[in-house]
Amino acid sequence: MKAIEVKGLKKKYRKTEAIKGVSFEVDKGELFGIIGPDGAGKTTLFRILTTLIYPDEGEARVEGLDTIKDYKEIRHIVGYMPGRFSLYQDLSVEENLTFFATVFNTTIKENYHLIEDIYKQIEPFKRRKAGKLSGGMKQKLALSCALIHKPKVLFLDEPTTGVDPVSRKEFWGMLKKLKKEGITIIVSTPYMDEAMLCDRIALISEGEIMKINSPEGIIDEYDSRLWKIRGEDMHRLLKDVREYEGTESCYAFGDSLHITLKGGEESIGGLEKFAEEKGHGKIRGEEIRANIEDCFMKLMKK
Ligand code: ADP
Repeated sequence: MKAIEVKGLKKKYRKTEAIKGVSFEVDKGELFGIIGPDGAGKTTLFRILTTLIYPDEGEARVEGLDTIKDYKEIRHIVGYMPGRFSLYQDLSVEENLTFFATVFNTTIKENYHLIEDIYKQIEPFKRRKAGKLSGGMKQKLALSCALIHKPKVLFLDEPTTGVDPVSRKEFWGMLKKLKKEGITIIVSTPYMDEAMLCDRIALISEGEIMKINSPEGIIDEYDSRLWKIRGEDMHRLLKDVREYEGTESCYAFGDSLHITLKGGEESIGGLEKFAEEKGHGKIRGEEIRANIEDCFMKLMKK
C-alpha cells in the first residue's frame, strides 16, 4: 500500500479549474515535494488530501483510506501545517501545543521525543503569545503542533514561505530527521532550491502535474544545451539577447542569464559577437548543467 494514491483528481471553484485531472502516488516514508508557483493548485490538493474539501472528480487515498468515506480516520493519522499559520495568536506557545495535543487525545509528554529538536528552540519563549513570535519561531511552533499526535503522513503547505534563510535551512534539517522516524512528508514550496532536498518532486503548474521524478532525474531529462552569461548592464543584456535571432529562450537567474539557442547550437560565439556589437563588451558564455528552475521553465513552454 502507498502512503498517497491520487487518481484523476479535479476541483473547480466557480470558473477556476484549480486541479485539472491530477494523478500520482507517494511511497511510505518518502519526502515528496509539490513544486509550483502561486496559483498552481498546491493548497487545493492539500485541502483535498487532508479531507477539508471534496474533489469534483477522481479519487484520493491516504494510507489506503478514502478522503471522502474515511475522512474521520484520515484526520487522526495526518498532520497538516497550512500555508497561513494555523496557530491561535492569543494563546501562548505552550497553550497552542497543549491544545493540539488535547484535540488528538494525547499529551505533550507522550510524543515529546518527536518534536524535541524543534520545540527546544522555542521552549524558552513558551509563555509568549504565538502572535508575538518571529516568522521562524511561528513556523517551528506550527510544525510542533502538526506533529504532536505522531501522524503517519505530514502535509506541509509552503512551510518556509516568509521565513529567513537560516530558519529555512534548519527546517529542512528537521524534515530529514522526521523522515528517519518513518513519517511520510508531502511538502509544497515555490523555492526551487528546496526541491533538490526532496526524494521525488511533482512539478505543478495551472492545476496540472507536468513531471514527477527525483530532482536529479528531472535534471537528467533536460536535453537542451544551456549557457550562462553575465554582463555589466543585465537589464539591457536580457533585452538584447531576447532579440537575437538565434535565441530560443533566455531567463534571468540571480546575477546571470540562462540561455538556450535554436537548433541546440554547438557554440555561443554568434551570440557573444552580437552582444559585443550591441556594446556589452567582451561577454563569455559558459555551458552549464540545468537546475530545477530551468527544467520548470522549459516544461512550461511546451
Ligand atoms: P497554490 O496553493 O498553488 O497557490 P491554490 O490551490 O491556492 O494554489 O489555488 C489554485 C487556483 O484556485 C488559483 O487560481 C486560485 O485563485 C483559485 N482558488 C483557490 N481557492 C479558491 C476559492 N476558495 N475560491 C475561488 N478560487 C480559489
